[in-house]
Amino acid sequence: MANQNRWRTFGRVVVLVWVLNVIGLAALAFAFLRGGFGNVFSFGAPVPTASATLRPQPTQTTTPTPLPTPSPTLTPSPSPVPASPTAVPDTQTPTPSPTPSLAPTPASSVIGHSVEGRPLQVFTFGNGPLKRLMVFGIHGGSEWNTVALADELIAHLSQHPELIPPENTLILLRVVNPDGLARGRGSDSRGNAHNVDLNRNWKTPDWVEQWPLKGCWSGYPLNGGDGPGSEPEVIWLRRFIVAEKPEAIISVHSAALGILPGGMPPYARSVSLAEALAAVSDYPYPPIKTGCEYTGQFADWSSLQGIAAVDLELTDHEHTDLTRTCWCSPPYLRGASNL
Ligand SMILES: [Zn+2]
Repeated sequence: MANQNRWRTFGRVVVLVWVLNVIGLAALAFAFLRGGFGNVFSFGAPVPTASATLRPQPTQTTTPTPLPTPSPTLTPSPSPVPASPTAVPDTQTPTPSPTPSLAPTPASSVIGHSVEGRPLQVFTFGNGPLKRLMVFGIHGGSEWNTVALADELIAHLSQHPELIPPENTLILLRVVNPDGLARGRGSDSRGNAHNVDLNRNWKTPDWVEQWPLKGCWSGYPLNGGDGPGSEPEVIWLRRFIVAEKPEAIISVHSAALGILPGGMPPYARSVSLAEALAAVSDYPYPPIKTGCEYTGQFADWSSLQGIAAVDLELTDHEHTDLTRTCWCSPPYLRGASNL
């Protein structure tokens, strides 16, 4: 009996083991079919298929990954920032030798355009309350050396901004008649693109379209415009002056006549400016008279606005007089400011 019981017990154990095995296998099979093991063992097609059905989300999560790629493409776009340093050497290239010391580029802006669309560019030095305006090249290429003087002054003052007295702002209009300058240096380069003398197109009581040529420059047929202030160069400059309200204006010409105060008759403050300039230079003052009748003039219009204004004639048509007249010396600039 004992043996029979032993065998019976043994048989039950075997059956139990088998039952457990079958249950275990069934559970494994079920789990396998559910794909649960796939995650664990990382094998079996179901996992990719499952994730394939989830693709839309992964693709959305990969779309952010393109964002890093744009952000590299955005890193080139900061490269315009490095590009502006390269622009700095660019602006320095025009000035030949003193390139390294010319680090401070003067503030410049365009106040308008000529008949042919060339810019009227001003350069500003200092930031004092008393504004001084110097204009160059109103007679274009025939007085090209005045524009050359402007360029020399711009370069020199960029290197020596301390020359500007603290109470002053000095504004240089590099060339009033860029179209004439672009035509070369002949007689036909004095007027603008409409053959108008831009120094005779201003709204003064004596404006005329045609003036007597006796004693005047007559190298090429010019006129005073269709009416006072008819030319774009004059319109822009007038607007600029009305807006900026400089208290003194020097219009630089060439050549030889000296310093001519504006006004009809000469305006007292313009005379004071002429005297102040004569005191620190050797330009003739009172000016040389040729018998020419000056009409519709810029300095006269400026004086009629209550601005001290003079025409200043350089020595000849070739030189800038930069060193001869000590244009850049503080006494000269201060002299101009002692009005
Ligand atoms: Zn002139």
